[in-house]
Amino acid sequence: MVNLQCPNCGTSGIENIVSGNSVRKSKDGDTRFHIVYCVLCGYIYGVFGKIETTM
Ligand SMILES: [Zn+2]
Repeated sequence: MVNLQCPNCGTSGIENIVSGNSVRKSKDGDTRFHIVYCVLCGYIYGVFGKIETTM
């Protein structure tokens, strides 16, 4: 079980950690990355590439 804690604001509630599409888009207008970030302070835990099934 992963227990994430924000190193910036210290929150550890999973409800405060959300993932969303990156604002960066490819030429096709398709988002290629998920970002996982803290909703309280905006700290970004990481950016994950989507699994591409059409490569
Ligand atoms: Zn935070």
